[in-house]
Parts: sequence; structure tokens; C-alpha cells
Amino acid sequence: MSKRKLTRRQAWRIEKIQQERIARAKKRSTQAEIDLGKLGQEQNGLVIAHFGTQVEVETKLGQHTIRKRCHFRSNLGSLVTGDRVIWCDGDPTGVIVAVQERESELCRPDPYGDLKAVAANIDRILIVVAPLPKPHTQLVDRYLVAAETVGIKPALVINKMDLIDDAEQHEVIKGFIELYTSLDYEVITASTKKGHGLDDLSYFLTGHTSIFVGQSGVGKSSLINSLIPNLALQVGDLSSANQKGTHTTTTAQLFHFPQEGHLIDSPGIREFGLWHMSEEQIIEGFIEFRPYIGHCKFRDCQHRKEPGCAIQQAHKDDHISDYRMQSYEALRDQLDQ
Ligand code: GDP
Ligand code: ZN
Repeated sequence: MSKRKLTRRQAWRIEKIQQERIARAKKRSTQAEIDLGKLGQEQNGLVIAHFGTQVEVETKLGQHTIRKRCHFRSNLGSLVTGDRVIWCDGDPTGVIVAVQERESELCRPDPYGDLKAVAANIDRILIVVAPLPKPHTQLVDRYLVAAETVGIKPALVINKMDLIDDAEQHEVIKGFIELYTSLDYEVITASTKKGHGLDDLSYFLTGHTSIFVGQSGVGKSSLINSLIPNLALQVGDLSSANQKGTHTTTTAQLFHFPQEGHLIDSPGIREFGLWHMSEEQIIEGFIEFRPYIGHCKFRDCQHRKEPGCAIQQAHKDDHISDYRMQSYEALRDQLDQ
């Protein structure tokens, strides 16, 4: 587990919240609730899974790892996988007494359209593509924009490099790598079949909490299985890829890489970023557009055909590639619909 040092202010805040929660909990304690007097010491933990009103918490003590089901009260808000908490041991379940402030949060809309957190404290997003299945147009940009929106560092993984056997495919992939490297994104080429690129991937993931996203069938489970040998996630064949994810549970789980670092995985997270974004978020998410935002002649410029549009000009001047401009326009048009 990565040991992040808390700033004094954070520590003070947590301490304060903790005290308040304990005081409140004691006051409210009914027979159904846990008697705090019987609880063990407060300790730091990491939420590794979520089950309705309970979470599974993990704490590392030297060589040992303790895992415990814990209750949490609704006044703590909704806890999600990846949350760093303070908990006390109890019998049969422990209890969470405080939650640390999240450094990042992945949300998705619930059935009522409200955004709900599904995982916390993620700091790496691996966007996986492959020559087969052929990437949906704009999918990579859409994921990149989503990652930029939540402020989490993305990287591109091009898996199944072993399938590239003709010159044309080779050129396509080369262009792809050049484009995204020129935008300062990390691009990792890999093949789980040949065992290529796994070291680069490990290096990128070490010390971080990561998620893998991408179309069904690109090899996310295979990559994860190669990186975490005992995990044995189910690997689908391409023919059944379209149906995958419809019958699986949506709870997010946290796993450890053998080197320092964690993975959070769930079908809901794999689809992360494929829902609504605002027009402003979309344009901000194209990182090379940022220097030009706010420089158009008209304040309410739609960056279409207006005179004096700084974005269109940057495109004409080759500071924005055709491909990315098309992606931007396509995402924006989807929004219009
Ligand atoms: P997911 O849906 O993204 O999790 O993809 P899976 O890991 O289930 O893989 C889908 C299919 O692609 C399976 O048949 C895998 O065996 C295959 N696959 C995964 N990685 C590679 C690779 O590097 N090369 C080739 N040729 N096939 C791969
Ligand atoms: Zn403009």
C-alpha cells in the first residue's frame, strides 16, 4: 500500500471529523448499532470492495494484511472502493469511523440521472485499444477527454501488437503512436500473447491506483491477468465479446499488483467516460486546444465557422491535427443531439 504522508491540515481535519463522528455515533448508539466501547483501536485502512451497507477494508501491518467487513453509517456519505478510511475492529464486523478526503473520484449516473461515485483515489487510467476489434472512431479521444475531466493521468495501451502483420496496419498504428506521443501522452505497445510491453506497463502502474478502460475484447482482462498472475479474470473470446459485461456484477474491487500499486476493476468502471460531458469539459479535455480557448473573436464562439475563431485558426496552422479536430467536432455534435 502506498504510504502517503498526510499534511498537517489533512491530519487535523481527519482527526476533527473522527472525533465528531465518534461523538455522534456514541450518542445515537442503539441496540442494533455497534457498541463503540467494545471496538478496537482506530486504524487506517483501504476499502477494497463494497457490498450494500458494508465494505471490505484492508490494513497492512508489517508483513500481515488484515481484511475485515465493516459497517458504515449513512452520515459518512457513500463509501466506495479505493476510499481511505479509519476503522475500528469489532465482532463480527468492524466499523468505519471516518473517511479521508478523496484525491479523485470516478462517478457515473444512477438510474435517476444523479452522478454517483463508484471508485476513489485513482491516479492512472489505462486506455486499451487493439488492431482487433477495430477501435470505434473517437473512442480513444473520448476516454482521454473523460480522464482529463476528472484530472487523472491517462496512458494509451496498444495491445495485440502481434496481430499487426501488414504494412498498412503498421502505418495506421505508427500514425496513432506519433499523434498521441506528440501530445505528451504515454503510449505503451503490448502483446499479452508474446509477453511484450508488460515491463513498461508495470513501470507506469507502480505506486499508483489504476483502472483499465476500453472496448470489450481488446485484452484488458488478459493484460490484468499477466500483471497479477493469481487473479484469473475471465478472458472472453472475440465472438462473445459483445455480450460480455451484461451478466457481470457492477461492484468495483481493488487488487494489488505484485510491485507497489493497485488496480480497481469492475464492468461499470471499464465503461467509464462513455456518458454525458458538457461542451466546456469536451473542449478542455483536448489538451492541445487549451492555449487557444478564450482567444476567439467572439466570446460565445462555437468554434464552427465564426470569423476570428482561435481554435479553427490553430487547426489551419497545424497546431491541431485533422484527426483531433474531427474527434472534437464529433463529440460536440453528439452532445448537440
Ligand atoms: P477484454 O474484453 O478487454 O477484457 O478482453 P479479453 O482479455 O477478454 O481478451 C479478448 C480476446 O483477445 C481473448 O480471446 C484473448 O485471448 C485475446 N487477446 C488478448 N490479448 C491478446 C494479444 O496480445 N494478442 C492476441 N492475438 N490476442 C489477445
Ligand atoms: Zn472559436
